[in-house]
Amino acid sequence: MSDLFIDLTAPNGHKYKQPRGLFINNEFVKSQSGETITSINPSNESEIASVYAAGPEDVDKAVAAARKAVKDPSWRDMDTNARSDLLFKFAQLIEQHRETLATIETWDNGKPYQISFNDDLGEVITTIKYYAGYANKIHGQVIDTSPAKLAYVVREPLGVCAQIIPWNFPLAMAAWKLGPALCTGNTVVMKAAEQTPLSILYLASLIKEAGFPPGVINILNGEGRKAGAALAQHLDVDKIAFTGSTATGKEIMKMAAVNMKNITLETGGKSPLLVFDDADLDQAVKWSHVGIMYNQGQVCTATSRILVQEGIYDKFVESFKEYVSQASVVGDPFKDDTFQGPQVTKAQYERVLSYIEAGKSDGAKLVTGGEAFKDVGGKGFFIAPTIFADVKDDMRIYREEVFGPFVVISSFKTEEEAIERANDSTYGLGAALFTQDITKAHTVARRIEAGMVWINSSNDSDVRVPFGGVKQSGIGRELGEAGLEAYTNKKAIHVNLGSRL
Ligand code: ADP
Repeated sequence: MSDLFIDLTAPNGHKYKQPRGLFINNEFVKSQSGETITSINPSNESEIASVYAAGPEDVDKAVAAARKAVKDPSWRDMDTNARSDLLFKFAQLIEQHRETLATIETWDNGKPYQISFNDDLGEVITTIKYYAGYANKIHGQVIDTSPAKLAYVVREPLGVCAQIIPWNFPLAMAAWKLGPALCTGNTVVMKAAEQTPLSILYLASLIKEAGFPPGVINILNGEGRKAGAALAQHLDVDKIAFTGSTATGKEIMKMAAVNMKNITLETGGKSPLLVFDDADLDQAVKWSHVGIMYNQGQVCTATSRILVQEGIYDKFVESFKEYVSQASVVGDPFKDDTFQGPQVTKAQYERVLSYIEAGKSDGAKLVTGGEAFKDVGGKGFFIAPTIFADVKDDMRIYREEVFGPFVVISSFKTEEEAIERANDSTYGLGAALFTQDITKAHTVARRIEAGMVWINSSNDSDVRVPFGGVKQSGIGRELGEAGLEAYTNKKAIHVNLGSRL
């Protein structure tokens, strides 16, 4: 067999065939330069496999394939019932390969297998099915103007869409982007994150079997600064959708200006979680834990800044510390009782450790954690869940996104102060608040600058509900009906029925 596939056995004993190529025109191919990137198992720092990495010349090939497919009548003019069936078939294949996909995701990314299997793959399947259902419900509009004129609006695809995805939820982020792009008739060139290149290639291996015409979905691995930048700057790409850091989002926005691409950005956050004196303390503690510690804290919407009203501050900090020590079981991600696996890479691990040092040297009070976690075989990028209390607003750990099992807590006196401080951030992705006062809950929710607010919970996300940020947390919305807006143009057609010159 060519070196485009490799037989692998994952740590859970699962055997499968891992594709290694770039997926262009429904085929796996080598990169033209022969360059590769290597995937590392974050649990023990061993190499899993290397895969081909795209350079600008491969990006050109993938974009040309996607451009050709935009005009291919078998895709462009496909009956929308058939397009819907195709997406349902894709979802069905993903379901059939769920175990393999979840295994790769855990091996490559470090997230617990139960989470990969239930949450990530559950979300992938639901999202593709949800947008499969939309494929035959993309409606235009007739606008009455006068008897002499007929004006109507058709919604048409944007064309070639570049989609750049991150490493924290590789398959789920792929599904969030593929679903709406495909059901509206676009074609796609997707680039996965270099830290997690494997699961997306296995997903690619199901595309041809599902029946998508060649070039409709092209999937590349490659470095952000090479392949990602080549996509963002490409003159034959119509749209770029990106999920990742705010700094990279800004770079992409600049590059996309070259041909005024349509853009959707979902970037960073430092989302606040407010606990008022009248909150159900037990619930506030449990949701605060999930809100920051889920997925090793590597969630853009993580509620990483907890503000607690002074009447219950000490009690909250004590109960939260106790709960984190019980619930955040750190360990081998393939073990059933593991809640927290390793950070995705050495770079992320070191980044979190450096914020721990910043917290200590800036004088914040370390409540628990504050060090690497070495009890999982002595290797791997594990970090002890870390809580800093009595954190001041000007400290770096209060203002900057850490992206790890790392949370800061601070107290507030009044509702007004809570809102003011919640909004004192360059970010505006999510926000949570805990109170049993229904009026306060809705009033505060309205005044918080964020794309999403959770009342008495944290980090709820649902394929049917729009997701996205304000301020430097992003532009545009994914998921729900709102997600379709990001992938269609509204074309107005004016018909003259009798106005004569
Ligand atoms: P992180 O800093 O957490 O790794 P990034 O925002 O850098 O997050 O990465 C998210 C995605 O953006 C990845 O697929 C990465 O390869 C890509 N990327 C990184 N830098 C660039 C760039 N300059 N241009 C385009 N894509 C990039």
